Parts: sequence; C-alpha cells; structure tokens
Amino acid sequence: MLIVIGGGIAGASAAIRAAQADLPVMLIEAGTYPRHKVCGEFLSPEAVNYFTTLGALPAIEAEQPARLTRVRVTSAAGGEWIGALTHTGAGLGLSRHKLDQLLIDRARAIGVHVVTGQKVTGVSGNLTEGFTVTMRGDSIRARAVIAAHGKRTALDRVLNRPFMAQPQPYVGLKAHFRGAVRADTVDLHAFPGGYCGVSRIEAGLVNVCLLVRLETFKRRDSIPAFVQWMQRQNRHLMRFFATAEQVTGWLSISQVPFNDHDKQPVEQDILMVGDAAGMIAPLAGDGMSMALHSGLLAADHITRYLWGDSDAVTLKRLYTTAWREQFAARIRLGRWLQSSLFRPALLSAGLTLINAAPALGQYFVRQTRAPAHP
Ligand SMILES: Cc1cc2nc3c(=O)[nH]c(=O)nc-3n(C[C@H](O)[C@H](O)[C@H](O)COP(=O)(O)OP(=O)(O)OC[C@H]3O[C@@H](n4cnc5c(N)ncnc54)[C@H](O)[C@@H]3O)c2cc1C
Repeated sequence: MLIVIGGGIAGASAAIRAAQADLPVMLIEAGTYPRHKVCGEFLSPEAVNYFTTLGALPAIEAEQPARLTRVRVTSAAGGEWIGALTHTGAGLGLSRHKLDQLLIDRARAIGVHVVTGQKVTGVSGNLTEGFTVTMRGDSIRARAVIAAHGKRTALDRVLNRPFMAQPQPYVGLKAHFRGAVRADTVDLHAFPGGYCGVSRIEAGLVNVCLLVRLETFKRRDSIPAFVQWMQRQNRHLMRFFATAEQVTGWLSISQVPFNDHDKQPVEQDILMVGDAAGMIAPLAGDGMSMALHSGLLAADHITRYLWGDSDAVTLKRLYTTAWREQFAARIRLGRWLQSSLFRPALLSAGLTLINAAPALGQYFVRQTRAPAHP
C-alpha cells in the first residue's frame, strides 16, 4: 500500500494519480474538510491541465471560479505596473474552502481510503523493508510513503529536517470580503515590510491575503490594528477597505518558511511533494500548481517502482532529478522577485524599469510558470 501524509493539494493530487494507476492508497489528513487556509487562492493556468488529468475539472468549473488574466503591482510610493498574468490562458480564483474539499471528494470517488482528523506523528523504515507510519495510538505498514504535509509542521521536526532550525520571520493573513475590484486582475499592493494580494474568487467574493515581516506585524498590538495601519500605507488598499465588507474572520499563520533551501525532494526514502519538498514565494502564484504537478510526478515514479519497473535507487534518483528540473529555478526566481516587494526603494525602481521595458515584466511572469505538464 502507498500512504500519502497530508490531504492538501499535493497530497490529493498524488493520491488520485496513484489510485488512477490502480495502486491501493491511504491518505491521512490531520484536519477535516471543508476548511479555510491562508492562501492567495489564485490558480495559475497550468492548474487547469492538472485538474483535467486528475478528473477534477468538471467539479471545479461547476463552482464558477473567477477568471484572472492580469496582475497589477502597486508600491506605497504610488508606482504601478499592470501586465498579463499568464501566457497560456486565464488563471482561476477559487477558495481553498472549496478546492481542497473538491479534490478530496475526487480522491474518495476514485477509491482512495481517506482518513481525516488523524495526525501522523512518525515514519520509520525504508523502501527496501517497508515503512511504519505512526498516528496517535495506531500504526500502519506501507510499501511506500509520499509526504505532502505542507510547508512546516511538527513532522518535519520528527524527521530532523535542518530547515526547522532556521528563523522564518514572516506572517501570513487572509480573509474573504465583498468589495470593488477589477474582476480579471490580481492586485498586489506593497506596503513597508510586506504586500497584500486582493483578487476575485467564486460567488462574487474577494480574497485578501497578505504577507508581512514579523517585526512589522508585531509593532501593532492586534490584527485589526495592523490592518488599519497597512491600509494607510498604500492608497489602493485604503480605497478597497473603505467600502469592503468583511465576510470571514482573519486567519493567520506564522513562520512562513522562505529559508528552506535545504529541503530535499527525497528524505529518508520518503518522496516529498508540494510545499514539503520546497516552497515557491507566494508572489509567484504558482505554489498550488507546483503542488499538483509534484504530486503527479511522485505518484508516477512510485507507481513504476511498485509495479516492479524500477528499483529504489532509480526511483529516488529519477524523482530528485525530475523535481529539480521542474521547480528549482522557479523557486529561486520567485524568492528574488518577492524580496523586491519587501524593499520599497527596490520596488519603485523595479516598477519604473518594467514600465519602460514591458517585455521584462512578462519574462518574469513566464519564468515563474511551468513550461509543460506531465
Ligand atoms: C500567504 C500565502 C499566499 C499564497 N498564495 C498563493 C496563491 O495565490 N497561489 C498559489 O498557487 N499558491 C499560493 N500559496 C502557496 C500555496 O498555498 C501552497 O503552495 C500550497 O498550499 C501547497 O500545497 P500542499 O498540499 O503542499 O500543502 P498544504 O496545502 O499546506 O497541505 C498540507 C496538508 O497536510 C496536513 N498535515 C500537516 N501535517 C500533517 C501530519 N503530521 N499528518 C497528517 N496531515 C498533516 C495539513 O493539515 C494540510 O491539510 C500561498 C502561500 C502563502 C503562505
């Protein structure tokens, strides 16, 4: 049996793909569905191909996600750049509340044994002798394990992953609103110490999701006080919040890990997928597509191994190579671009430059995207 740890986007993708290849699959998820999640909720166009592969596209289209084709970046100093967000069709705006539920429904429908409300607390073993996956008061044997437990969790500490020792001084916040935005545009409004994304999702809702340095966030004594301060730093945010009506409470996460360069695609014979393998800067709007894509890749490699068409050494080597070829350059560029949003002077200079040379902006957008799909 294949065990997939984590039922977010990468875990659901891996589990569905492996079940499509007739592998017996158990997916273990710590939480329950549906649930909100701190995320910009913009799906780059490649995601549509992956949803098609997974047989999930009709259910997703039925939710009537927003169609997003443009990006607008604004600086606190008043600079602005608007460009095409995609070169291959529209991206989608869909809440994680809907998306994660739809993917897990698809996994169940295709025969994945989905266990919810169970946190994996340990994994021991290897590909040659098999694995033991431990949950509270229970343990299960598996021939292979895919870890899709997200960017940073207690399981990483159990697995002794070195990035856990690095400081991760970023906070993420998100809430849904009703308010006035351009229907086809993802807005990224910078403020000193962070930036705030505003874009349409399904049902006429607007997702507001921001990333801020911890030291900036901590200078205010509550989330509402911080949001009040943030609005005053950028006139576009001020205009949006002046008339917007908040629909969900603020959800927050801390320790968003950008110092995770030493994550490996395979650790202790476990194939890592999604953010567990490496996180692209949220600015790139490609984390969910990468999660879907890496889930497909890992499931395909494991399937070949479990059907006897490959050995353990080859499996690990080929998956590591494929993962790096697909994602490593994108992750590096995304981090570099994102760092400019945290530096007001650099951002202003950058906006002036890409307004003078629009092809440069489109080049950056293209380089943070996948060229092909498996
Ligand atoms: C502020 C912010 C904004 C973002 N905006 C965007 C965007 O607009 N577009 C985009 O494409 N990407 C965006 N991203 C990135 C995107 O959210 C992630 O890349 C994506 O969620 C990764 O999916 P995943 O399946 O790897 O992890 P997750 O979606 O985090 O799923 C991990 C799952 O594993 C479960 N889990 C954890 N530990 C255990 C355990 N021990 N046992 C069992 N289950 C466990 C969790 O409960 C969770 O369900 C953003 C990220 C941040 C932080």
